[in-house]
Amino acid sequence: MNIKITVSTNDLLSAEGDVLVLLLDDNLRYAPNKRNPLTKEGMKWLQDAKDKKVWDYTFASSTSDFKGNAGKFKFVGFMPLRLGFFQDADDQVRTAAAKVVDFARKHHFDSIAFFLKSRSGYKIIDKVVEGVTLGAYEYTEFKDSIYPIKTMKVQLLVPADGVREAERIAHERQAVCNAANGARDIVNRPGSSLVPEGIAAHAAKIAKKHGMEFTLLRKDDLKKGNHVGLLNVGAGSAHPPVMFAMNYRGARRKRVDLALVGKGISFDTGGISLKPWSQMWEMKGDMAGSAAVIHTMEAIATLGLKQNVVGIIPSAENRPDAKAYLPGDIISYKNGVSVEVHSTDAEGRLVLADGLLWAQDKFKATTIVDVATLTGACLRALGLNYTGLMANDDKLAAKLTKCGASVGEKLWPLPLPVEYEELLLSPVAKIKNVGGSYAGASTAGLFLQRFVGEGVSWAHLDIAGTSDCDKKQRYFLVPGATGAMVRTLTDFIGRM
Ligand SMILES: [Zn+2]
Repeated sequence: MNIKITVSTNDLLSAEGDVLVLLLDDNLRYAPNKRNPLTKEGMKWLQDAKDKKVWDYTFASSTSDFKGNAGKFKFVGFMPLRLGFFQDADDQVRTAAAKVVDFARKHHFDSIAFFLKSRSGYKIIDKVVEGVTLGAYEYTEFKDSIYPIKTMKVQLLVPADGVREAERIAHERQAVCNAANGARDIVNRPGSSLVPEGIAAHAAKIAKKHGMEFTLLRKDDLKKGNHVGLLNVGAGSAHPPVMFAMNYRGARRKRVDLALVGKGISFDTGGISLKPWSQMWEMKGDMAGSAAVIHTMEAIATLGLKQNVVGIIPSAENRPDAKAYLPGDIISYKNGVSVEVHSTDAEGRLVLADGLLWAQDKFKATTIVDVATLTGACLRALGLNYTGLMANDDKLAAKLTKCGASVGEKLWPLPLPVEYEELLLSPVAKIKNVGGSYAGASTAGLFLQRFVGEGVSWAHLDIAGTSDCDKKQRYFLVPGATGAMVRTLTDFIGRM
């Protein structure tokens, strides 16, 4: 379903549509004034919801009771906020907005309007847009939508002097959320339908559309460049590994301001260290880091941000085969680090190492953020709502955390303790690719840090928990990919 957002003045006598939505909280920050019959009715709903302890959103009322005060709308939806949901205030707005879309499409309405009063309304315009755009998402590549509505018209009703500003905010937020939804599409796509070369082709199309330089390294180039992690991890697959770069130049200066590196394991069987069958299908999503990077590049180009950013994707399919790499193998990287493979299922860090080195050698990046569905340990430690954040630069970590918070993606710091370095030691190589049963997210981070040079600011985002939801969750109204980190990284680049 497409979302078409327009901004109009919040004059309820002339507005029209199917469903008029009032977001209600105790302070009436977003609703018309107290004397308005709509607000009076809304307050009754709010009280009623509190009394009955009904913690759900969709309350709708026929407009016939309101004698013209509800414009030419068929329904009024009262969406109570701050009713004790297990959500922070911003997520309540996003979720309420998403549920309005859901209500409308289920009732075959194709036009909804959010009433936003005065300046306080501005603070939530972005959240409303995020809620409707992310909430409306469905994965329809293999199955038609169950809803007949193709386009949902969403009006933001704001004070007359604020229409322009609201349009700007809405336009920007929607572009970013559309990019996040694009990431969701490729993460949801089956592993056999999106192999490493397919990820590269998808990215190349986006790069071309936005005039970005695109560099693709195929297998022979990888050999020439000594990108040994990719060559080993991809050795057991009929689909050869690739590495590519999308180079966005928003500023005139020469240097690259930021390199993003995204893990692109198109499917992870675990390789010879085969995963158990149950839930293995979810491993089609092991390229969510690459999806985040590719679509962040799309978002920053759409917004025309004034930074130079290169997006780097090392991509391989990890499968067992006669040619597959083996536990016990030793991989010698070009920066002098040799790695003993203890599990072929800890492959993400092996390919990310190539990506990190390429970012520094070829693009001279001095600030790098990598994104990866890296460890089950991170998922177990932080659950589905917190991305694990590890960094060698506190300022970079703090900025990322702040940007994440402003768009509803929570980042939580995990340590890179020097005393855990010894967990990675190997008797036959400099390090091994697993650090034992404890602190798995941190030892993966420590592994990656071995590939970050002196003076380079680096942060690692482990999205093993946040890239996917297994059921409807918050404003993600369908299970599957969430498009994690597209919003955070775009916001971060915008504020660099
Ligand atoms: Zn793996």
